[in-house]
Amino acid sequence: MQLTNTLTMKKEELVPHQPGVIKMYTCGPTVYSYAHIGNLRSYLMEDVLEKALRYEGFQVDRAMNITDVGHLTSDADTGEDKMLKGARREHKSVLELAAFYTNAFFADCEKLNIRRPDTVVPATGCIGDFIQLVSALLDKGFAYQAGGNVYFDTSKLTDYYVFGNQNAEDLAVGVREGVELDGNKRNKTDFVLWFTKSKFEDQELKWESPWGLGYPGWHIECSAISIKNLGEYLDIHCGGIDNAFPHHTNEIAQSEAYLGHPWCKYWFHVLHLNDGGGKISKSKGAKLTVSLLEEKGYNPLVYRLFCLQSHYRKPLVFSFDSLDNAASAYHKLTARVAALAKDGEPDQEAAKPWQEKFQASLANDLNTSLALTALYDMLKSDLSDATKRFLVGDFDRVLSLDLLQAAEKQNAQEPQVPEELAREIEALIEKRAQARKAKDWAAADAIRDELAARHVVLKDTPAGVQWHIEG
Ligand code: AMP
Ligand code: ZN
Repeated sequence: MQLTNTLTMKKEELVPHQPGVIKMYTCGPTVYSYAHIGNLRSYLMEDVLEKALRYEGFQVDRAMNITDVGHLTSDADTGEDKMLKGARREHKSVLELAAFYTNAFFADCEKLNIRRPDTVVPATGCIGDFIQLVSALLDKGFAYQAGGNVYFDTSKLTDYYVFGNQNAEDLAVGVREGVELDGNKRNKTDFVLWFTKSKFEDQELKWESPWGLGYPGWHIECSAISIKNLGEYLDIHCGGIDNAFPHHTNEIAQSEAYLGHPWCKYWFHVLHLNDGGGKISKSKGAKLTVSLLEEKGYNPLVYRLFCLQSHYRKPLVFSFDSLDNAASAYHKLTARVAALAKDGEPDQEAAKPWQEKFQASLANDLNTSLALTALYDMLKSDLSDATKRFLVGDFDRVLSLDLLQAAEKQNAQEPQVPEELAREIEALIEKRAQARKAKDWAAADAIRDELAARHVVLKDTPAGVQWHIEG
């Protein structure tokens, strides 16, 4: 498996610390509102990565945090806690808010067939671990106390800006909101490990610590949760590209200072989902959720296909027009699978080169669009239907598009259409065929519109027009 490592900005062969086992950490959601489909692009591509690694035969141990404390509205450590602000907005306690949006997040993930990581840990459940890590950093001289808070001293590091090849715009995302600098900091890039003092004194959740009653900074939670659950050597750390700076940069700083050796070898960053106006963000794009797609009549897996059609290292522009194209592609794909005969045994030998082709596409920096091409080519090939069905199921271990189930549903729908209605539809299709023959395009189009209004989907096959009712 080759992946683009943001640490080096090169495509590199993945060699795990322990042969055959991948330790993978994912920055979890900040649960103060619904995840938007941009956030979910990151989780979706991370899910594909995990499944592609399993397809290659790796064991994957994956952990993810849930950020329910410490993520401030400003990355410059001067803002208000996002959770507290959300709780006030919704007249809930912080923990109620966290429980509500954590459940909503996993419900969205389930709809998109995003597997829940083996270990999911809320930050508020690990306060003791954060205190232990901060204490060790103070002991080792990498941290200092000032104005009631504990700060990481970035001047103690030889190399701080590890993601050196990032463009200025990505770096700016991290500091953009931080108009006001924290005067306690010895260096501009220092960051808070533990707060006891902030402008916002009404923090709801506070814990006893050697430095007073307070709460952890955002970055410390990922280092502590990752090291606790996955050990001292991490293979892959994932996240959206906006997290590269300052969040991941700070994670590396404090983890390596604490451990005394390099920590994570590969950094997997997913580029943003944008709309016409730029990056979709929670403040701006709060309404662009999985529920909204469902309300508009889209199967959430159509969004999954939409994401798979593009490379994770490229920004992706979202529009409902392009989602419509993905919906039509999804329908065509499942119709193709639905047309495969169900009897017979798959030919494993004949399947092998196709599995290799599929795997090679994913191993090429997770090239999901190439993997989809392998699927399309396979369906067009002269393999037996049984072998094709076997391969569809096999590829879907990674793609997770529910292709066999959707095809099953599609097949089951046809006999359910009442006979009278079926006859009516058949008659209209025949009338349309006649109109086309007579080159009466207006009449043919009018019939097509009428059929579309009844959700009738037509499919031209060598055996004539086939149809089914969608939805
Ligand atoms: P948050 O819940 O804000 O902590 O973000 C959760 C994840 O979504 C992080 O990995 C972010 O980097 C990622 N993310 C945020 N906005 C986008 C976007 N527009 N496109 C892709 N990923 C995003
Ligand atoms: Zn993180």
